[in-house]
Amino acid sequence: MENPFNPADLQGKVAVVTGGGGVLCAGFARALAKAGARVAILDLKAEAAEQVAASLRAEGDEAVGIAADVLDRNSLERAAAAVLERLGPCDLLVNGAGGNHPRGTTSKEWLEDGDPDDPSLTSFFDLDPVGVKFVFDLNFLGTLLPTQIFARQMIGREGCGIINVSSMNAFRPLTKIPAYSGAKAAVSNFTQWLAVHFAKTGIRVNAMAPGFFLTAQNHALLIDAATGEMTPRARKIVDHTPMGRFGEAQELTGTLLWLASAKASGFVNGTVIPVDGGFAAYSGV
Ligand code: NAD
Repeated sequence: MENPFNPADLQGKVAVVTGGGGVLCAGFARALAKAGARVAILDLKAEAAEQVAASLRAEGDEAVGIAADVLDRNSLERAAAAVLERLGPCDLLVNGAGGNHPRGTTSKEWLEDGDPDDPSLTSFFDLDPVGVKFVFDLNFLGTLLPTQIFARQMIGREGCGIINVSSMNAFRPLTKIPAYSGAKAAVSNFTQWLAVHFAKTGIRVNAMAPGFFLTAQNHALLIDAATGEMTPRARKIVDHTPMGRFGEAQELTGTLLWLASAKASGFVNGTVIPVDGGFAAYSGV
């Protein structure tokens, strides 16, 4: 029987990774390139995208870095034209760009009497619509818009797929971050909706839900800058992760390559796969 899990299935495929200049998504771009894909790394930060692409090219992989804002259709149209010209039509889209905002985040886990009047705190009542909108836009619209632009290149071609990046907080919200939790829940929901909507086209749509990985986005929340020790929140996360540690970025790559390969996961559609050391399975008791 043919090996059902052969990353070489991705040989020559054109993969677009948004947010590819960031920590996890640079790892996604690298994994796809090492599996033989020709990779376009899109990021708001052009230098970060180009840096990741250059490091892959230096290792003999085919990669281009392209500036793109996942919230700007014109910018995405330009990026899609550049991908088409430099690599060919997109086979795989990884919607990796995402993140949180401090103005959509409460200072404390629980509201207590007096908190609403304490000027040193951001209580629920102080959540700023601008911060909340930023988070919903970046995570939800920032998944929908690139999909509109790049899925156009997939229509009528075989073996194409979309992989979204959700999060643990989509299953159950995390304290303090209502906007990010809600926005990632929307990403999971959209993954299912789109899988159904695209099913007759053959484009599969799935998502990964990473648990906790130390990256630039969450470093300040998890590591005390002064001491270099884990913050109480980071300690709590690790205590609620049955495997007792943060994930390593490369531990997402098996799931990514599996979902990307039409041979390996050809009947997998509309799923959100947790990669979390058991966090989602653990009740805490
Ligand atoms: P990161 O901050 O290192 O990378 C995010 C990248 O997205 C950055 O390079 C940034 O420049 C880019 N970006 C931001 N806004 C953009 C825009 N408008 N257009 C294009 N690019 C934009 O973050 P990360 O931790 O590597 O996270 C990658 C994805 O994984 C995100 O969707 C994040 O929400 C998700 N995630 C991360 C974790 C974790 O533990 N780090 C857990 C679950 C989910």
